Amino acid sequence: MKVISLQSGSNGNCIFVEADGLRLLFDAGISGKQAQLRLAEHNIDINTVDALIISHEHIDHVKSAGIFQRKFNLPIYITPKTWATAYKQHNLGPIHTINHFAPDSTFYLPNRPDVAITAIPTHHDCIDGSCFVVQHNQKRLGLCTDLGHAFPELTTLIPTLDALIIESNFDPDMLSFSSYPIHTQRRIAGPHGHLSNHEAASSLQSYADHTSLQWVLLAHLSENNNTPDVAANTHLDHHTLTTHIASRHQVSPAYHID
Ligand SMILES: [Zn+2]
Ligand SMILES: [Zn+2]
Repeated sequence: MKVISLQSGSNGNCIFVEADGLRLLFDAGISGKQAQLRLAEHNIDINTVDALIISHEHIDHVKSAGIFQRKFNLPIYITPKTWATAYKQHNLGPIHTINHFAPDSTFYLPNRPDVAITAIPTHHDCIDGSCFVVQHNQKRLGLCTDLGHAFPELTTLIPTLDALIIESNFDPDMLSFSSYPIHTQRRIAGPHGHLSNHEAASSLQSYADHTSLQWVLLAHLSENNNTPDVAANTHLDHHTLTTHIASRHQVSPAYHID
């Protein structure tokens, strides 16, 4: 399996995953043009992507779903509630085909029974949010952002994974000293917001010594309440796993799961 973060953060999310030729995009929070250019940097033609899978209806995950479908002919996979809410809240434009997956289910793309995509409900402040596991040939990748808090299922999930994208959104001190209004601070740090560096790092800590995790990609870093160095250092205090950081502005290298 191969993973590329095209962008990660509240300014837009889009992750590319390839499993034995099956090409998936998770979320469409960046422009069609940026997605196309950033994939092209890896010699991947966006028109060869097989599906767009949407995690939840927030604008940084869904805003270009219509464009991705109209420009690149991507089938959209989304839960019924997320679809209804996204369509009502955002101007996605005409969309001709929607494929639904059920929350808390495993689904497959046509003719690809070898790649299982499992949707796991999150506790984020959205209607029907999912995080995901992609499994192929006994290898498992977790895509876990916009989680709300480190809910118990996460603890049982992490030891089963071979690689993990996990949100490491904010540093609690930076957030509390930020200019954000108190209700915004509470939303971010509350049980339906985002995971802090400490929450993400301590979720990994207990498995660090006996884990199958080949790498961890820290994602959805806040622009104002975090920096890549602060996030990396917090994780270093908790575990020695190979840790990469997804940029808010640039395409990542390709990360492989062997
Ligand atoms: Zn988000
Ligand atoms: Zn969100």
